[in-house]
Amino acid sequence: MKILVSDKLAEEALEVLRKEAEVDYFEPTPEELLEVIEKYDAIIVRSRTKVPADVIEKGKNLKVIGRAGVGVDNIDVKKATEKEIPVVNAPRGSTHSVAELVFGHMLSLARHLAYADRSLREGRWEKKKLKGIELQEKTLGIIGFGRIGQEVWKLAQVFGMKCIAYDPYAPVELIKEKKAEPGTLEDVLKNSDFITIHALLTDETRHMISDAQFEMMKDTAYIINCARGGIIDEGALYTALKEKKIAGAALDVFETEPPGKSRLFEFDNIVFTPHLGASTKEGQIRAGITSAEQVLKVLKGEKPDFIVNKEVLEQKWP
Ligand code: NAD
Repeated sequence: MKILVSDKLAEEALEVLRKEAEVDYFEPTPEELLEVIEKYDAIIVRSRTKVPADVIEKGKNLKVIGRAGVGVDNIDVKKATEKEIPVVNAPRGSTHSVAELVFGHMLSLARHLAYADRSLREGRWEKKKLKGIELQEKTLGIIGFGRIGQEVWKLAQVFGMKCIAYDPYAPVELIKEKKAEPGTLEDVLKNSDFITIHALLTDETRHMISDAQFEMMKDTAYIINCARGGIIDEGALYTALKEKKIAGAALDVFETEPPGKSRLFEFDNIVFTPHLGASTKEGQIRAGITSAEQVLKVLKGEKPDFIVNKEVLEQKWP
């Protein structure tokens, strides 16, 4: 079994692979990838390497494509499905990492941490101006109650927060069982002190938070997006901050990444991180090991646990 690992992968994951297969670990250019791909039974990527249709077409021996993470925007899944090649990933690897980043942002907003740091470095001592709020007893609105949404709620309970969760596809019983309160989007927008987005980016969720939704929020509310850029309409967020319709925001993801010189940089009450949600040592080790295990399972003819193209799962493991 010959596996190409074409993006940086945790050493722990490479060890898992090397126990059972021959592993080549280098970062090819798109042209190099096209040249070498037919030598390999499997390829494992993160987000740097693109696996387009022509690479899959040329990969005559390709039996599985692994993604050490969740999103598969860089893989032509349709082509892989056509060729009956499973695309496997590691959907839980970064769940906790993203949830902790949400709390980093939430505390930063509540206590003005990013601004306080800037102001102190610039020689100011703005103790009076920077009075914050506690998270305790505040209402957290969670939009998208999947893996990350639920993990955020688990952590929020330690802070003594209350929660309203909106997820049209999550069973109400599941939300109740997790001791959160199920609500509509409007309930979340009108009643939350902190709103955090953990839905997928789809046609339905693109710009789901726009002018009308900001209008419904408390003027003391904070909104955090560590899911995908585009769910919040950045133009509407600009207006909401300009007109003080909300107290502040935090963004880990942007409509265009990197965002260049965003107009949003003019506000002090917004905190930014450059898509760092999954970027922790532990998260990347977990994602690397899981994807390595999934790829090895497929190569040994076993049914993988995490597959993106479910059609292939049904074809190969009916
Ligand atoms: P998940 O699939 O477990 O959960 C997503 C939830 O969104 C599901 O429960 C789904 O029912 C819900 N949903 C779908 N449409 C919705 C709608 N219209 N309104 C409300 N909810 C809706 O996914 P996850 O692993 O929890 O990931 C959540 C988000 O975080 C995704 O957008 C993912 O891309 C993103 N993410 C970001 C980072 C980062 O680095 N910032 C890392 C990992 C994941």
